[in-house]
Amino acid sequence: MSTRVVVVGGGVIGVSCAYWLRLRGADVTLLERDRLAAGASEGNAGTVSAGHPPLNRPGRLPQALKQLADPTGPLYVAPRWDPDLMRWLADFALHCTDDHVQACMRAMAPFGLEALRLFDEVVADEHLACGYERQGYFDVCRTEPALKGARHEADIVRAHGYHPDLMDGDTLRRTEPALAPDVLGGVFYPEAATLDPYRFVMELAGRAGTRGVDVREGVDVAEVVVRSGKAAGVRTATGDDVGADVVVLATGPFSLELARRLGTRLPVQPGKGYHRDLPVGDGAAPPLRMACVLNETSVFCTPMEGFVRFAGTMEFSGLNHEMRRPRLEQLTRAARRYLPALGEAEPLSEWCGLRPMASDGLPIIGPLPDVEGVLVATGHGMLGLTLGPATGALVADYALDGAVDTRWRAFSPERFA
Ligand SMILES: Cc1cc2nc3c(=O)[nH]c(=O)nc-3n(C[C@H](O)[C@H](O)[C@H](O)COP(=O)(O)OP(=O)(O)OC[C@H]3O[C@@H](n4cnc5c(N)ncnc54)[C@H](O)[C@@H]3O)c2cc1C
Repeated sequence: MSTRVVVVGGGVIGVSCAYWLRLRGADVTLLERDRLAAGASEGNAGTVSAGHPPLNRPGRLPQALKQLADPTGPLYVAPRWDPDLMRWLADFALHCTDDHVQACMRAMAPFGLEALRLFDEVVADEHLACGYERQGYFDVCRTEPALKGARHEADIVRAHGYHPDLMDGDTLRRTEPALAPDVLGGVFYPEAATLDPYRFVMELAGRAGTRGVDVREGVDVAEVVVRSGKAAGVRTATGDDVGADVVVLATGPFSLELARRLGTRLPVQPGKGYHRDLPVGDGAAPPLRMACVLNETSVFCTPMEGFVRFAGTMEFSGLNHEMRRPRLEQLTRAARRYLPALGEAEPLSEWCGLRPMASDGLPIIGPLPDVEGVLVATGHGMLGLTLGPATGALVADYALDGAVDTRWRAFSPERFA
């Protein structure tokens, strides 16, 4: 008898869980309340960039306060009374230490390399048509303080098995001529890839379906059904039960409520980000050869098929998809300082999505402590696409073997108990 698993949530994490569970022989049903890739997985920056230190770092708080003072800066916290957000911010601050950075790197660096290996493998083996390019990306700086910070980050990453390469402005411009003459320098990260995130999720979901996963869209899960302390399946908003031996909650920032009902408080906040896609051409986006992250403004510029995606900003304004136009427009305004040929053409797409941000900067993957048979896979923050396949494989290990590589225990939800 195969293990019956219900995966809740059809983003990159849920679809990856469903795919790897099925690959390992589970009998899988995937339930998505909207359509596949309806959440953050649809329009993110499309970079697979592993091995970086978490957002929680020494010096982050003064930097955040400075950014908050600038209404067009990359960070925004909507003023409101929200006890969950207050607790989250306090917990985030507590984790801004060197020791925490090192603890995160010990788990995240090898997990990131595993993620890249699985990306290479699944894209090739399943012939996924998602524009996967394994050519790395540039971290681009215009100012000395940013360059100093970028070098420091590269040192941390290098100490954990990656190969970042420091470059001066001329070297960067030789590979990416669209960069402005006043770009000072930056870092080349070779262990990275780019792809179209929506196409990746849809292609992987298609392969999961072909392999036998029962994919159901438009099914809103209201609660996990528990009998004698053990998961028995889920109940939908229309009152139907779907039976299972194991339930996987991969509902992004919406996982809180489902977990809370099972007695676990997950410190996850929605971190809103935006994208603007501009077509490649005169008066629009220059034909970028290389994906670039614009260091001072944290804007990602990712070349995709026929357009460049400008993505970024981190906005804590609750569980909503309200778009703040000045923040959206700031993406291309900021990018123009680094890419002077960037014109004012009409965007092909404008979008926002909610990153599931864990307060300590680590994803939350593993069994919930109080109910047998419930696994959670969320809190991937800015790295959900990057860590999707590795998370899927890890969830399959938990669900089918019960045992996992001890390094990945750092991601367990038990750390919040
Ligand atoms: C602007 C921006 C840029 C980013 N760039 C990158 C990047 O370059 N690289 C990277 O690695 N990451 C990036 N990210 C982060 C990444 O997009 C997220 O971490 C990732 O998409 C999270 O995936 P998820 O599957 O957990 O959540 P989601 O994609 O949000 O999926 C959750 C799904 O669960 C469904 N759901 C919720 N509740 C229920 C329910 N009760 N019943 C059924 N279904 C339910 C939702 O409808 C949704 O489809 C970026 C994010 C943003 C916003």
